[in-house]
Amino acid sequence: MTGDYQLQRNLYEFIKGTEDPVVGMSAKWLGQVLQAVDEGKPIVYHPFTLFSELFVALDIQSICCESWGVLGREVDPEHVTKNIDAAHEAGIPDDLCSFDKAIIGSLLLEKMPPPAMIVLSAMPCNSSTITYQAVAELTGAPMWTTDSPYDMGEEGAMDYWVGQYKGLISFLETHSGKKMDYDRLKEVVEESNRCVEYWLEAMELQKLRPAPRSGTLGAGTSGSIVLCGTPSSTAAMKALLDDTRDRVARGETAVPDEKARVIWFHFGIGWDRPLMEWMKELGAVVPYVEFDDYRVEPIDTSTTERMVRGLALRALQAPMGKLGRGAFDEYIEDLHYSIDEWKGDCVVLAAHPGCKWIMGACGLIRDACREHGVPLLVYDVDLVDPRVTSAEESRTRIEQFLATVIDR
Ligand code: SF4
Repeated sequence: MTGDYQLQRNLYEFIKGTEDPVVGMSAKWLGQVLQAVDEGKPIVYHPFTLFSELFVALDIQSICCESWGVLGREVDPEHVTKNIDAAHEAGIPDDLCSFDKAIIGSLLLEKMPPPAMIVLSAMPCNSSTITYQAVAELTGAPMWTTDSPYDMGEEGAMDYWVGQYKGLISFLETHSGKKMDYDRLKEVVEESNRCVEYWLEAMELQKLRPAPRSGTLGAGTSGSIVLCGTPSSTAAMKALLDDTRDRVARGETAVPDEKARVIWFHFGIGWDRPLMEWMKELGAVVPYVEFDDYRVEPIDTSTTERMVRGLALRALQAPMGKLGRGAFDEYIEDLHYSIDEWKGDCVVLAAHPGCKWIMGACGLIRDACREHGVPLLVYDVDLVDPRVTSAEESRTRIEQFLATVIDR
């Protein structure tokens, strides 16, 4: 039966007792969404580039669509590809990003609770922007798009963006029937600041050589997207940090003898989580995954205006969001920065077919790595759909590449 969200209910039951703080965060969010569905509460859809503080302060249940579309492999390994196929069968072009096809497919298969409203930031890419238009068309829900300037360094760009962000708050008020209580928002932002401080410290510890962990911290998920500004999000990030600190104190490292430090400059491969664990067998550690690096800072809450401005700035910082919305220079600067700071010996770029803006700039990325003196592997792999490149093929490509890196 569709429309009962049984898959997500099964997933919730499966993960709710987890001791992993990041998975626990997803479980908490999933449980809250299902409760909102059962109680008939309104739901707001949003993309991964928007943090959750406004929704938390207004007490509106949110669904980050990119997360919802790809959650659930643990209880049905075919779930995500079924979503993608449903989108294809409805005529969605197959070169649309598979994160986005999974959203549209979820809706068509009635596996996603309908929204009362949709909020969007016009980034990072055309794929995302057109998808949310399709989502609004399919659901009939009202949508607000925060228009982001192409060049944030241009005079007046930030003021324009803050105005757009204030429009987002008004839209949420209008369609939820609730008025923003700015004292409550201040509490929520102070809570999210605590979360961000733990998050930044965990990222700092990953700069140690040898690194305490390998692979994604999951900081983007627990820190930002779904429940940022709630005590449980802060607790999840603190647990992650405490565990990382303990590892450092015990002298525990991801790989005792690091032969290669890999900068993974994209999301991890969602369907192939064991990949980075396997890389450890080759002596390679991944101290940095781009999706952990929101480059966030605590927000000044001393006045309402400063707080809203800080939130607006934070909403520009999602990796991929900030890198995909304007000129490519910022992407290249971030690449240099991450290689320097996390002491990368090489870079792997998972060439997700939907990311045409990255694919179109492979030459610039290659030049930047050459300038930096680090080898680069670009290989085709879909981050969501396992049918494009198999796990075996990934391992073959990475093993060959790392052999040349380690031999240098
Ligand atoms: S930036 Fe790439 S991965 Fe992100 S939504 Fe767009 S196409 Fe998909």
